Amino acid sequence: MAAPQIQPAKPPLRQPVTSVWGVGEERAKQLARLDIFTVEDLLLHKPRRYEDRRKFLAIRDLQLKEAATVRGKVVAAGTKTWKKGLRAMFECILDDGTARLHCRWWQSYPWMEEYFAVGREFLVFGKPESLRPRTIDHPETEPIEPGEDEFVHVNRLVPIHPLTEGLTARVMRTLLWRALEKFVAAPRQSAANFPDWNIFEERTAALSRAAATLPTRANAVHMIHFPEELTDVEIARQRLALDEFIALQIQIQTRRKKFEAAAKALPCGGDGNRLIKPFLGRLGFKLTGAQARVLREIRADMGGAHPMRRLLQGDVGSGKTVVAAGAALMAMESGFNVALMAPTEILAEQHFRNFSGWLAPLGLRVELQTGSRKTSNTQHPTSNAEQTRSSHSALRTPHSALLTIGTHALLTSGFDLPKLGLVIIDEQHKFGVTQRETLVRKGAYPHLLVMTATPIPRTLGLTLYGDLDVSVIDELPPGRGAIKTFVRPADKLPKVWEFLREKLKAGRQVFVVYPRVEDDSGERGLKAVTKGFDNLRKNLAPFRVGLLHGRLKSAEKEAAMADFRANRANVLLATSLIEVGVDVPNATVMLIENAEAFGLAQLHQLRGRIGRGAHESFCILISDAKNPEACERLRVLEETNDGFKIAETDLKLRGPGELLGQQQSGLPRFRFGNLAEDLALIRQARELAANFLG
Ligand code: ADP
Ligand code: MG
Repeated sequence: MAAPQIQPAKPPLRQPVTSVWGVGEERAKQLARLDIFTVEDLLLHKPRRYEDRRKFLAIRDLQLKEAATVRGKVVAAGTKTWKKGLRAMFECILDDGTARLHCRWWQSYPWMEEYFAVGREFLVFGKPESLRPRTIDHPETEPIEPGEDEFVHVNRLVPIHPLTEGLTARVMRTLLWRALEKFVAAPRQSAANFPDWNIFEERTAALSRAAATLPTRANAVHMIHFPEELTDVEIARQRLALDEFIALQIQIQTRRKKFEAAAKALPCGGDGNRLIKPFLGRLGFKLTGAQARVLREIRADMGGAHPMRRLLQGDVGSGKTVVAAGAALMAMESGFNVALMAPTEILAEQHFRNFSGWLAPLGLRVELQTGSRKTSNTQHPTSNAEQTRSSHSALRTPHSALLTIGTHALLTSGFDLPKLGLVIIDEQHKFGVTQRETLVRKGAYPHLLVMTATPIPRTLGLTLYGDLDVSVIDELPPGRGAIKTFVRPADKLPKVWEFLREKLKAGRQVFVVYPRVEDDSGERGLKAVTKGFDNLRKNLAPFRVGLLHGRLKSAEKEAAMADFRANRANVLLATSLIEVGVDVPNATVMLIENAEAFGLAQLHQLRGRIGRGAHESFCILISDAKNPEACERLRVLEETNDGFKIAETDLKLRGPGELLGQQQSGLPRFRFGNLAEDLALIRQARELAANFLG
């Protein structure tokens, strides 16, 4: 017979919420709707707002419609009925020696007569409906018990929590009061009654003087529900948010440590000479200071003891591609192969062309592998990826290092690159964390460089990407023309066409972007863009207009891009497909129709397609939006070109979930932490976690 298992007792705060007095099956169901299952969930149920019930008056001084708390003794109480007993109300008259107050309820329950017994004393809060006689309907009441001087519902700042059907603010407040009394040390005492929270106490209190200025977790929980002053609420919130951030940072940093312990770095620092030197010499421009600095950071990483895990941030047009090429060359100098993944075929093709131009003269092989290539390959049973590769190799020099550029196709099980030393992911925000790890796992812990042009607010950089080191290119290449941004209503379009024609005459090129051509319904969106295409051709004749959207075949997309790049098409009508990566410096106008349909980050990305050459560039946002949030987005774009400012505004307007999309996020839900505001706390948590983990 198996020995009986001894179950360790559940820590008190992890007990089901039914262990709070007054929570039965029915209440538990209601609470579950608010995601409250344990005592801890209840204690961390953050009030939505607070009501100030501290104004205390003599009954005589009550003012019409002005909420206040009074105190009085019941002198009479009872139920009145009318309509032959079908309707009933309960009334109770209080006296405090200065005047009398009538309290009325438009229902009557059997318990009320006993509760409002004559002679019993009450605190009452509410708004007088009339002063003759003084009357409050449905007041908040609380009996004064001998020896008790703390009140839950009146004569204080009271919390109003998020509620659900059948669960009133008063019941919720009562439950919290009880839970605090039973499970948490009395206010302003030590956290000794908090067994499962002590770990946080140690982590924070011992580690930082800054943290020591915050209340203990126990006090913070008290303060958030029953603050003495409204200023307490923010202090308490910060403390509880700090704990959330610490928990996350410990998780992130533990993962990173485990990874470092498991992985030995491949020596990919290069010799700094053989390939890099001629590459830089032939570039035709000098690296910006920021580019050079980032390349040094990368070299140190790739020659170091642990595999590189680096996020390269740089606003659109800051020149990340050249840095990626430099990193690739370091690995290749060291004799390793490199994989570069981009989110769209168009971008992969563009990279293929650029990298071929840079690397082929150095005797290096560059290959392209995209979804559509692979598809066409499967039609030839004998051929496989190898043939694809050969047909797109810039140069075939056996035994020399190889750079494979591709789309998601690189993630498929068929793709395998021996001696994989470095994985580069461009426009990382278009991929999920899992995808990035899938590619890394194709090798024996290759170095990882992820690049993103969607500037990540610093708070997210430290949380979502907390397991990556961050490099920032904070400098644009010299000689870039300025970008001017205007928002215009749709009825100004004729003038806009005029303006476009002027620029086209001067030899410049123009992007026109429509939203949602690839929507689920497909047909309607497609029609819109086709109709738009005819219109545009008419309006801009004799200039030639190309068309690019997601429904085209790969070859058609490629042809459209090639035409535009070569200025055979002077205008490119496209969907947000061109949002990432596309680099045509002669294009100086970006016209976006129905601009309100795009997110802020997306608009900034689209705008990043222009302003890449020496000519002044113009971004024209067409919108008739009235919605204040949409107007605010467009206004921000008119005001600034700074990607970081834009990202931070975006985070504030939309919140991290929206900003990152579901697959991206992988972040816990914060009850108290606010990713848009809490940079300082996140920094502190990161430091505390690092100290804690040693
Ligand atoms: P992004 O950071 O958006 O990926 P790209 O790498 O596409 O930007 O670079 C944008 C343009 O700037 C390209 O045409 C590139 O050749 C050019 N460029 C990059 N670095 C420099 C530099 N240091 N000086 C001049 N032009 C540069
Ligand atoms: Mg790029």
